[in-house]
Amino acid sequence: MKVITIGYPRIGLYRELKKSVERFWKGNTSQEELLKVSHNVFLEGLNDQANAKVDLIGIGSHSLYDHVLDWTVRLGLIPKRFVGIEDSLKRYFAMARGVPDIGALDMTKWFDTNYHNLTPEIDAECLANADSLSDWSNFLSLLKDASKIIGKDRVGAEVLGPFTLAKKAELSGVSVPDVVRGILPVYLKLFSDIKALGVAEIQIHEPIFVLEDLHTPEFKALAIEIYTQLASAGVPLNLVSYFDDLGSAFPWVCRLPGVTAVSLDFTRGNTLALLKEYGFPEGVRLGAGVVDGRSVWGDQRTALPLLNAIKAVVPSTVEISVQPSCSLLHIPIDVTIETAALELLASGSQKVPLRFARQKLVDLREFAAQFESPNNKKDTKIANLADSAEEIDEKHLHRELPFAKRRPLQLTELNGILLPTSTIGSFPQTKEMRRVRLKYRKKQVSEKDYFRAVDDYISYCIGLQEGIGLDVLVHGEPERSDMIEYFAEQMTGYLFTTNGWVQSYGSRYIRVPIIYGDVTRRDNKPMTTREFKVAQSKTSRPVKGMLTGPVTLLNWSFPRKDISRKAQAFQLGKAIRGEIADLETAGCRIIQVDEPALREGLPLRVSRRAEYLDWAVRAFRLATAIAKSETHIVTHFCYSEFGDILDGIKAMDADQITIENSRSGSAMLKEFVSYGLVPDFSPGIYDVHSSVVPPLELFKSRLLDIKNSGLPIERFWVVPDCGLKTRGWPEVIGALRNLVFATEQIRKKL
Ligand code: GLN
Ligand code: ZN
Repeated sequence: MKVITIGYPRIGLYRELKKSVERFWKGNTSQEELLKVSHNVFLEGLNDQANAKVDLIGIGSHSLYDHVLDWTVRLGLIPKRFVGIEDSLKRYFAMARGVPDIGALDMTKWFDTNYHNLTPEIDAECLANADSLSDWSNFLSLLKDASKIIGKDRVGAEVLGPFTLAKKAELSGVSVPDVVRGILPVYLKLFSDIKALGVAEIQIHEPIFVLEDLHTPEFKALAIEIYTQLASAGVPLNLVSYFDDLGSAFPWVCRLPGVTAVSLDFTRGNTLALLKEYGFPEGVRLGAGVVDGRSVWGDQRTALPLLNAIKAVVPSTVEISVQPSCSLLHIPIDVTIETAALELLASGSQKVPLRFARQKLVDLREFAAQFESPNNKKDTKIANLADSAEEIDEKHLHRELPFAKRRPLQLTELNGILLPTSTIGSFPQTKEMRRVRLKYRKKQVSEKDYFRAVDDYISYCIGLQEGIGLDVLVHGEPERSDMIEYFAEQMTGYLFTTNGWVQSYGSRYIRVPIIYGDVTRRDNKPMTTREFKVAQSKTSRPVKGMLTGPVTLLNWSFPRKDISRKAQAFQLGKAIRGEIADLETAGCRIIQVDEPALREGLPLRVSRRAEYLDWAVRAFRLATAIAKSETHIVTHFCYSEFGDILDGIKAMDADQITIENSRSGSAMLKEFVSYGLVPDFSPGIYDVHSSVVPPLELFKSRLLDIKNSGLPIERFWVVPDCGLKTRGWPEVIGALRNLVFATEQIRKKL
């Protein structure tokens, strides 16, 4: 049984690539030095895989920034505004990050992962020029280098497929069929160059095939048309899909012309059931993605039963290879350097081991050996994930009174104030604050001194907000480095890594907290009341309590693999529920529970969304329904495609919904208003991602949008789009002054 990989981390064990890229941007390192570091990181990944005796190694997704950008550039799909930039590396980074007067490509989420790719922009002209601008020499040299080291028969050339490219792109004046047909000749040239190198196969990545949009007769016909052409290049094609199953497209995708192998994700969706239903073509290799490329937990409980179950249903002549479910890009590189985390786990009764990319490679080999071993017990039972140990009590999910009855009891001192003003939570994270927080962590600063620094910051924030004239104040979140980590560190069941970095986009990597056990507040101790009390003691205006919601805490962590995500969401919901009760006891009357990641957890496949939204909303309600009728519960969402989750948002039964809005003009506002949401509503009034202080006029026109929205003005609040932690004080002061001033002027006219 062959072990095959389809992508590997490309950031370096100690973030070597990030450091070098950022030095290069600052002008502190040469292009030559950057490329050398990058190449070493590539070689390190190659060695990892070669040493683990991977039979066929996917090569080519190594990248200085983003693999989708790489393919956009290689295929020559350069938007007009970048064509004039001669130097290819300068142009590449300009497309990624923009340069003065030339905006970067947009960034979007890579399917339902926390990775973000750049969005190709394609119009007719771009398509027409692709051939002449295309240049994949850097890709060919990766393949050549790898071939020299491991032999060309072990090299699979990873190529982003035309359908995924076209569907992920922003198209203007051209359709997806136009793009795939238009770019086909360029792909054919590329394929013929790859063929000349004599590598084993092309791994053509088409994760887009898991989406329903492509499960239509039209797309089927188009895919057959395009793949018939691609097949003519005469290179074996490994059609790689992941992040879900292929649904009703399963039978035809597995039989696309030229496809000699199909790589399927057996860790998400229900690929096994499809395999049973539709069978599998003889003569095609089946890449069994049974090692979860998106989980840091080992697959010891499921991999072998899955392989056995697959074997039992495919024709005996079908070759099965064992693979990660997707690129290992989404997990950190090596767990053996995480001594603290490993020690913690060793003291528990963990049934599955913690596994990062290097360890997953070892497991792949091990599963292949077990599968072929005469001792293989042919176990095909795949253990179901346990749901909640304790059932959720339905009555814990409901506030005492419905919104219309409880709202008049809340924040009565604001009665008569139209368009109350507030903010979303964080204020600038200053260098000083960051430094003292770090020192406190390293125990170089006493708790007393640290608290004094935090409290000074809070006092300053409160004074400033009073001076500016905001109605509902926040403490500013100086004690939080991150909205997940801050809570996770105060709860049981979470572990942290020191070098467990995963690429989020470009040179931004994140260390995702890992849930390994039952989550509760440690010793049931409050996590946020101290800072709330400090803030509230400085002002007579209401101070907002500030919490991260259960669904976001879950979606921005690596979840456990032994109980369901739903069960984990409920545990988190219970913890936040306790915190809300404690904040109320501390005198808090308005509490914001941020759920910016609610949308992110939405399954790719529409048919699975209702189930997710159901438990996600229940987790939020479990957290918040404990609030007294007098307590005003706010929730906040960053920019999302809200259309798909409006029912969910409504069902959360919050008293106030704040959304990032200004990037969409007033489209979002309109969408929410036409949906008819009942509670208070705070469409973010200005973009916090820009360092420019928005002029008074902008605030006024946004306030007029609100006034003319058709929803009663009494329901609206005026807030920025999101937290202000990435901004500097002068901008924040300027913007909030304009926000308040514009609001006061509008109030006079109402
Ligand atoms: N309260 C958080 C902050 O202001 C919200 C952040 C977010 O929505 N991502 O920073
Ligand atoms: Zn936000």
